[in-house]
Amino acid sequence: MADFGGTDLEAFRADARSWIEANFPPALKGAANPMMREERAKPSADQEAWRKAMGEKGWGVPTWPAAYGGGGLSGGEARVLQQELNRAGAYNPIGGMGVMMFGPTLLEYGTEAQKQQHIPAIVKGELQWCQGFSEPGAGSDLAALQTRAEDKGDHYLVNGSKIWTSGAQYADWCFCLVRTDTSKKHEGISFVLFDMKTPGVEVRPIKLISGNSPFCETFLTDVRVEKDQLVGPLNGGWTIAKRLLQHERSGLSGAGGGGRMGGGRSLTSLAKDYVGLDETGRIADRDLRTRIIQTEIDARAFQQTAIRAMLESKGNAGPSAATSIMKNAGTRVMQDRAELTLEVMGHQGLGWEGEDFTPEELGAVRQWLGGKATTIYGGSQEIQNNIISKRILGLPDLTQSK
Ligand SMILES: Cc1cc2nc3c(=O)[nH]c(=O)nc-3n(C[C@H](O)[C@H](O)[C@H](O)COP(=O)(O)OP(=O)(O)OC[C@H]3O[C@@H](n4cnc5c(N)ncnc54)[C@H](O)[C@@H]3O)c2cc1C
Repeated sequence: MADFGGTDLEAFRADARSWIEANFPPALKGAANPMMREERAKPSADQEAWRKAMGEKGWGVPTWPAAYGGGGLSGGEARVLQQELNRAGAYNPIGGMGVMMFGPTLLEYGTEAQKQQHIPAIVKGELQWCQGFSEPGAGSDLAALQTRAEDKGDHYLVNGSKIWTSGAQYADWCFCLVRTDTSKKHEGISFVLFDMKTPGVEVRPIKLISGNSPFCETFLTDVRVEKDQLVGPLNGGWTIAKRLLQHERSGLSGAGGGGRMGGGRSLTSLAKDYVGLDETGRIADRDLRTRIIQTEIDARAFQQTAIRAMLESKGNAGPSAATSIMKNAGTRVMQDRAELTLEVMGHQGLGWEGEDFTPEELGAVRQWLGGKATTIYGGSQEIQNNIISKRILGLPDLTQSK
């Protein structure tokens, strides 16, 4: 089969297929990805063996440079690899914020020593990262952040607090924005890294109504940050943060998954079970049928656009303001699909716990609720609309403070 770029990838496909056959534990076929859950589940021997194998091979981050342990594959090879993983019923065990946002940013802005220190552990899925950006009073207006880093000669001393730090209670390291100059807003911010076990780092999980604690308040009191953990120039962190947010948005758009949040069965397959078929073999409810088709068309159109944007950005300087369009479009596709899933399930789509509901039904409700947050985190929908109007449409900015 030919790649979109026209390169013959059949030899690579054969290699990938036999490597997966030799290394993917058959017992995990079709299993959910334990590494993608908020809680770092205690992995089974099979799960751990698969993470190690993919980590050593670098195929969890297939296009990252081989010099730091990444797969060093072309975009075409990476797509073939994904197809072969899907074919084998295998998941990619390497993920999290290190892969989605921090790694690509460090590869672009980090020193050689920083890349050598941090990238291999991300590639192998050995360490988890959390994002210390938001603060009370600095969410959408992120540059209003107040957490301060004082220059103490050979190190910085950091004081302040962060909020909504997802997974901070399980994270090993944090990439964090701090204020290093109080006289300027955007030009007074620096991007630093610290070990979450550093004295003075206190994490308080925020308990939600569901009983879960997917995110935390993080308090920083006299936290020592070594100077070699400053990424980019002093006071130059805003540019790096913006690039990281572009990576976050392109990841959150679900570009990789074509808008089918969290995988799962197609709407058509669900509707066949829950709504049934008419005498001609079509989904019995005509209105529902139309809306399922529309949702699938939107998801496919989004997926094709995401692939096209990815191919077009090859050779360019990385993600652009177009990631804001993709984020808004992708999250809408995901939310529409989640909404329709519950409608297809009827009363069975309203369960929170208990034996009356299947794991698939309980998962659908959680996905629907969780999906609401996608238009908030990574920059809210309104803020993305502002970016689109200003940077892409060239309209005047009448909303942001200077
Ligand atoms: C599930 C979840 C996980 C998160 N994880 C992390 C994390 O790991 N690390 C981290 O640092 N942060 C995290 N966040 C925080 C997230 O980035 C912020 O919630 C987000 O940036 C919005 O900021 P805010 O909550 O302060 O809302 P606000 O800024 O108070 O905004 C409230 C509302 O006003 C609108 N608004 C604000 N300003 C404007 C404007 N100029 N024009 C038009 N509308 C405007 C917003 O769009 C929004 O609808 C997470 C959030 C959620 C929900």
